[in-house]
Amino acid sequence: MISKLARNLVPYIAGEQPADRTYIKLNTNENPYPPSPQVAKIMESFACDTLRRYPSLDSGALRAVIAEKEGVKSENIFVGNGSDEVLGFAFPALFDADKPVCFPDVTYSFYPVYCTLFGLPYRTVPLDARFLLDRKGLRAGGGMVIANPNAPTGLFEDVREFVHADVPVIIDEAYIDFSGRESLAKQAADSENAVVVKTLSKSYALAGLRCGYAVANPQIIDALMRVKDSFNSYSVNAVTQAAAAAALTDTTYFAASVQKVVHTRDAVRSRLLEKGYRSLQSSANFLLVSVPDGDGERAYLHLKENGILVRWFDAPRLNDKLRITVGTDEEMEELLRLL
Ligand code: PMP
Repeated sequence: MISKLARNLVPYIAGEQPADRTYIKLNTNENPYPPSPQVAKIMESFACDTLRRYPSLDSGALRAVIAEKEGVKSENIFVGNGSDEVLGFAFPALFDADKPVCFPDVTYSFYPVYCTLFGLPYRTVPLDARFLLDRKGLRAGGGMVIANPNAPTGLFEDVREFVHADVPVIIDEAYIDFSGRESLAKQAADSENAVVVKTLSKSYALAGLRCGYAVANPQIIDALMRVKDSFNSYSVNAVTQAAAAAALTDTTYFAASVQKVVHTRDAVRSRLLEKGYRSLQSSANFLLVSVPDGDGERAYLHLKENGILVRWFDAPRLNDKLRITVGTDEEMEELLRLL
């Protein structure tokens, strides 16, 4: 008694979230450090009486904070319940079903799921032997989705040219803050066709809060609003709106926290290379690591049995590898010991 659509959906599979807190959890690219103490302050002093009311429909105050941080106007910002939701709204807001949406074969595995949900045809364009983008191939369809840095490779590429492509483009910058490179958010705001999507889940250590946003021209923002208002008008709750604004304003804490993760990432990568593992040069908060005997699943299970969760993808070009989130220095010592 279910629809054909629901029967045929192949949903995104998120990394395990075990109730058992004893695991060292390096499988969903969460931040090992807590969010800004300003978030705790907001939570502690939150006027719970106001929860009687629905939250702001357009996250107005939060959009103003994000706009200032990105150097754009509020009319260039759309806020959603995590960047997965922002991406989910962006697919039907930008793409039509007459030509395929193009994205790399190795990228965030949610993109094909949105296409199926919204009835959009798609084409995967293989990354080259070095896991780099086939730029011409990507431009050949009716739209593009690019994660930069890419996941799960961790590779950053200069994708400025795509901002001015003649088809709609989603640039997913979930990991940009760990790259030391400039975001394309401001350029997207001035472009015809590009949307940059960001999240507070990784670099701001707020995965549990659920807050993501898009930066684009006002017409695209309006289209995103109209999709949201056709699905769930109040998608961003009041606590999230307040806490996210507080986190974004604490730039000193943010910079120090990101710096620690980047430092650990680079140190662990060097140690892994010394041990005979191979790993791409990561610009994100995770490392994609090839295990020496090529059996990624065995390494994944070995780590799991010994209390460390990492991500293993049973997919071509990935099944000899592990995607390992950068944890604290102590967590990474234990990982290195077990590997
Ligand atoms: N984009 C990419 C590339 C990701 O890896 C993730 C995290 N799984 C997301 C978007 C979504 O993050 P969130 O919904 O927590 O903002």
